[in-house]
Amino acid sequence: MSEHDLVIRGGLVVGPEGEVRADVGVRGEQIASIGTGLRGRRELDADGLYVLPGAVDGHVHMRTDRPVDVYDDTFETGTIAAAFGGVTAIVDQAQVEPGTPLVDGVRRRRAEADGHCVIDYGLHVNLREPSLDRVAELPAAMAEGCPTVKLFMSYPAYRLPDEILFRAMQHVAGEDGMVVVHAENGAIVEELSRELRAAGGSDPVAFPSISPPVLEGEAVHRALAIAELAGCRILIFHLTTADSVAELRRARAAGRPAFGEALLHHLLIGDDVYADPDLAPQFMGTPPLRPREHREALWAALGDGTLDLVSTDHGPRRRLPDEHGVPRHRPGTSGVEVRLALMHSEVVLAGRIDLARWVELCCTAPARLHGLARKGRLAPGFDADIVLFDPAAERTLAAAVLHSDIDHSTYDGMRVRGWPVTTIARGDIVISSGDLRAEPGRGRFVRRERPGHAILAPWRSS
Ligand SMILES: [Zn+2]
Repeated sequence: MSEHDLVIRGGLVVGPEGEVRADVGVRGEQIASIGTGLRGRRELDADGLYVLPGAVDGHVHMRTDRPVDVYDDTFETGTIAAAFGGVTAIVDQAQVEPGTPLVDGVRRRRAEADGHCVIDYGLHVNLREPSLDRVAELPAAMAEGCPTVKLFMSYPAYRLPDEILFRAMQHVAGEDGMVVVHAENGAIVEELSRELRAAGGSDPVAFPSISPPVLEGEAVHRALAIAELAGCRILIFHLTTADSVAELRRARAAGRPAFGEALLHHLLIGDDVYADPDLAPQFMGTPPLRPREHREALWAALGDGTLDLVSTDHGPRRRLPDEHGVPRHRPGTSGVEVRLALMHSEVVLAGRIDLARWVELCCTAPARLHGLARKGRLAPGFDADIVLFDPAAERTLAAAVLHSDIDHSTYDGMRVRGWPVTTIARGDIVISSGDLRAEPGRGRFVRRERPGHAILAPWRSS
């Protein structure tokens, strides 16, 4: 029997198909075998632990060097926090500035990231200019290793009109890529927002009224219809309402290549937080937090396969002192480090999904949909991205025990059961016993595959 560089012995290996007690053998950067009685030059005892594929977060925002949209985690601190949370790959975004060719924007974002990440990363290309010349640059930008194109239907300076969405989707479909879409009715959200401001509305309780659920459903419907017309694969980012889920379910039932993402905070935090003026500002971005009936619809959609993956939209900002020196929250949430643990604690242990579905939502499906073809699975030939997860470990979430470069956590004070204790990335032990064992720069840019080519197994439906 040939020897491995590393063997993880005796853990419960969890994948989207279920669980098996087995050893995992690593050679170089890849998984070489799954079996019993494997021997290695180095061995880790995983008795009592779950052995998972490294988690993938396909929706994060690390620091930019632009004056707006500044998030406080750098590629270094953000990927360190991710690694501590059992994440072995992220997909950040090249939010290319208007006036900049898309290829230049992708290369510029890579220059900000390269040399700083401890885990691997990819980039979505964000088309922001409603210009057909810019749209025509999409194939070249995608050829930089970015097969996913982000399109906004909301936010001034980001949102695109329907005809540009349509043409962009045609180009993306021509390259066999996928669009990732922020689906809201930007025009009416902005109008309702103006109305709220004009009425002097500074009470956070009124904030969600600018993005009514029926309107999110309308935008999701429109995005799906335009994608269908363009023949384009589409992942709708951050669905938050029963209306949106119903639209996606209809498209799926019709056999469309349409997929849906839920964000951790939309699942776990309700709109009652807007009554807390201290905490509320973190959640004053759209789509907003929703009432329980909408969250119940998201839970059901995670369980029945209508929603495909859970991401974080990690883009936290430090609190800043107000005129009285009191630290105040700003819009933006943290989550990249706590997703696996919170989904285990709040969703698996609550009986809403099983272990296999947990791994599918956090690890396998994000890798597959975002074209990280060698990640998200524990199988020979895949990257040796492996997490040892202790289902009995308990933590109380707080900035002091987490690793983002911010002064709080969105989930401050929450008690979780289950925690990633060891993170291995392409065969390197990156996190062990609460310590970082890797240097910034070990993580590489991943030239992602076309998403369609990365689908390795049939979707589990129901
Ligand atoms: Zn985002």
